[in-house]
Amino acid sequence: MSAESSIEWTDSTWNPVRGCTKISDGCKHCYAEKFAERFRGVKGHPYEQGFDLRLVPEKLAEPLRWRKPKMIFVNSMSDLFHENVPEEYIAAVAKVMVAANWHTYQVLTKRSERLRELLNTSLRFAANQKHIWWGVSVENRKYGLPRIEDLQSSRAAMRFLSVEPLLEDLGKFDLRGINWAIVGGESGPGARPMKKEWVVAIRDQCRRARVPFFFKQWGGVRKSAAGRELDGKTYDEFPERILHPILAARECIENLEYASDKSIKTAWDEEIARRIEDIDSGRVKAVSREIARRTLSLVVE
Ligand code: SF4
Repeated sequence: MSAESSIEWTDSTWNPVRGCTKISDGCKHCYAEKFAERFRGVKGHPYEQGFDLRLVPEKLAEPLRWRKPKMIFVNSMSDLFHENVPEEYIAAVAKVMVAANWHTYQVLTKRSERLRELLNTSLRFAANQKHIWWGVSVENRKYGLPRIEDLQSSRAAMRFLSVEPLLEDLGKFDLRGINWAIVGGESGPGARPMKKEWVVAIRDQCRRARVPFFFKQWGGVRKSAAGRELDGKTYDEFPERILHPILAARECIENLEYASDKSIKTAWDEEIARRIEDIDSGRVKAVSREIARRTLSLVVE
């Protein structure tokens, strides 16, 4: 089962990594940390280890099993580009996104330097895919604006900004090459306030630059009471989605082979294949172990 999401701008979440560490002001009231820490020590729970960073290879193959196209928020409970996630593992996640290309993926990070570096080198096969949207978080000028520059200097075909929680007026900033902007205020206990004029300034810049604008929420201690209307209007704009047909197994394999540069073909490729072999949902099952070891090998019945 996919994890259906209540986040306004996505359908589902996919977490092949869990846990993270704080890096900037936007992390202060990290929702993921609060959620994960509630289960620390609960035996057998996915967050038994709280918010400690760990890879979840058993989740790697999930999108291949979801046969209905979805918008998928990748690593809602972590940061894919965290310094402790091995580059090979990030590549494995990217290969799954390329192979299961009937979905739209939203990859959001605060580690924009690593995103830029990898999209321009080992992840180029995924950077140029329009069904994968690469985004950075922007909470203030100090941390957020340099992240936008990193994103703009990357080879991403689709770039977005998650301006949340917006903590101050961002002033005038460059939106060149940006395909989407989400804006929202912080919510929950201790939420830091967001002023209307900060939001309006971003909306107006998006209008001028023709960047789709999504206003997620005002936030605050009682988020539902504050709502998500701006000047009496709900802003639910999205960039145009590329809709690929749902692929049969063999075609997924071709996609994966396209993504599998020999120089980064690793044990993780085998791990994905092994996980697919483990799938016994009745709809998707593995065939030849030999082929599976070489690449992703599965049959859709
Ligand atoms: S980067 Fe994201 S997931 Fe990681 S601590 Fe900060 S807010 Fe939480």
